[in-house]
Amino acid sequence: MNIENLIRRNIINLKPYTSARSQNLDGILLDANENAIGSTFETDLAKDLNRYPDPYQLKLRKSIGEMIGVNYKNILCGVGSDELIDLLIRIFCSPSKDKAIILEPTYGMYKVACDINEIETIAVPLNDNFQIDFQSLNENFSSEIKLIFICSPNNPTGNLINAEDIEKIVRSYNAMIIVDEAYIDFCEEGSAANLIKKYENIAILRTFSKAWGLAGARLGYCISSEKVISFLLKVKAPYNINKLTEQVVLEAIKNCRKKDEIKNIIISERDRVYKELKNFDKIYAIYPSDANFILFKINNSKLILKRLLEKGIVARDRSSQLNLENSIRVTIGTKEQNDLFLTELKKAADELCK
Ligand SMILES: *Cc1c(COP(=O)(O)O)cnc(C)c1O
Repeated sequence: MNIENLIRRNIINLKPYTSARSQNLDGILLDANENAIGSTFETDLAKDLNRYPDPYQLKLRKSIGEMIGVNYKNILCGVGSDELIDLLIRIFCSPSKDKAIILEPTYGMYKVACDINEIETIAVPLNDNFQIDFQSLNENFSSEIKLIFICSPNNPTGNLINAEDIEKIVRSYNAMIIVDEAYIDFCEEGSAANLIKKYENIAILRTFSKAWGLAGARLGYCISSEKVISFLLKVKAPYNINKLTEQVVLEAIKNCRKKDEIKNIIISERDRVYKELKNFDKIYAIYPSDANFILFKINNSKLILKRLLEKGIVARDRSSQLNLENSIRVTIGTKEQNDLFLTELKKAADELCK
């Protein structure tokens, strides 16, 4: 397949904004209306804030590329993966014409981002194991579908989507397949990233918001073919990644052992909380997790959430999502937080689930 056939004509023909910082970064810079006297605020972490950041994000892309063993030309950073979701929609889908498939229940942003761009979303249910239902996918596919969103591990169900199924979709459908791997650090072996070597119509999304503990810095990245990355580069705001975020993330990558330490703590806590919940007889369904949260079903879930909130514990109501009636998603916290959650959940359930 030729990926350009999937891309909007106006994007292919687009002459991108040429920013003042596109060509040379050294010299007497009197070309971008910056403040040459200096900035009104400097920190040790980020200097030269009076100058715009690198529109090509070269330091970040190279550093991430080295870390994951991918050429930097196959990587682009966004303000969280949420920005990349929006950019991919805008590259592939013409408003009020093209459509996208979403495999439900899943992350809510795909539909919101499509709605904002006037792209109709077709909800295809995952099967009972929250895996791909190919019959349903086939029935719902049409030539108007330009994007298929796959979240793996899936939020809020927590499971990886089978790697062979993802490859089968990439191979069989004339559409761009977006695999959101926001939680992949919790189960690295499940990544679909190696598929970018074989196919142009797949984009992997990752983020520093979860395992890296940098949600406040807002950095996500896309791994895809050079072609797709070149279009993302063309469409994104020239200076989307700010220097403060760049510095923080470069430091975090240098120190990536810390991420693994934290990740391992979260995984062992997750497995402990899972066992506790699994043994709790008031919970009538619970789903194994490859991520940093657990989804379970319990009668009167809304009242239970309300009771937890009164105790200062905030968990997420997922009961309005497809096939998830009475479900609660709880993020794994510190050991003390998890213990408190378990204690209060049991108290609330003993009272509210007779
Ligand atoms: C949290 C989450 C994100 C958000 O990522 P940001 O990089 O913080 O924008 C993306 N996808 C899924 C599935 C998530 O759960």
